[in-house]
Amino acid sequence: MANIVAIVGRPNVGKSTLFNRLTESRKAIVDDFSGVTRDRHYETAEWVGKKFTVVDTGGFVHGSDDIFEKAIRDQVLIAIEEASVIIFMVDVLTGITDLDMEIADLLRRTSKPVYVVANKVDHAKLHYDSSEFYAFGLGEVYNVSSVTGSGTGELLDTVVSHF
Ligand code: GDP
Ligand code: MG
Repeated sequence: MANIVAIVGRPNVGKSTLFNRLTESRKAIVDDFSGVTRDRHYETAEWVGKKFTVVDTGGFVHGSDDIFEKAIRDQVLIAIEEASVIIFMVDVLTGITDLDMEIADLLRRTSKPVYVVANKVDHAKLHYDSSEFYAFGLGEVYNVSSVTGSGTGELLDTVVSHF
């Protein structure tokens, strides 16, 4: 498979919501409980005539914090391996967590394009809050609201520029 866009991030940041929006499917399960999406979901998407595959990476439902962290870590490592472009999603409402930092540490090691996407920027006044995500050292931060669709167009323009 070519042109694979993987969405990684800790549970509940809105990965499945963005996946559903990009793929116009309801395949991924969105839920208020953390880590509902298991495994990985692949679905095709198209933007400005360019076709690509989007991967929604799941969380983990049961187990200790260690197992939970390992599952997320594994998802990130698979994404680094198979994806052409990686979307690293974080949540502007909660800000940076330890798990976000661990994921950022892994992503800094790949030479593949990684885009930091601050989700849940539903209102203009939240735009400035996402500047803390520059601390990841992964470059530009893209503000989006996966619920309203705000900012997703600019993000997609950048993502498909690789295809
Ligand atoms: P995932 O665990 O990363 O796949 O996150 P989900 O897509 O399941 O979303 C987790 C929760 O965040 C759900 O309650 C979503 O409705 C909510 N959510 C997702 N995107 C947004 C957004 O852009 N704004 C707001 N306010 N909530 C969102
Ligand atoms: Mg999910």
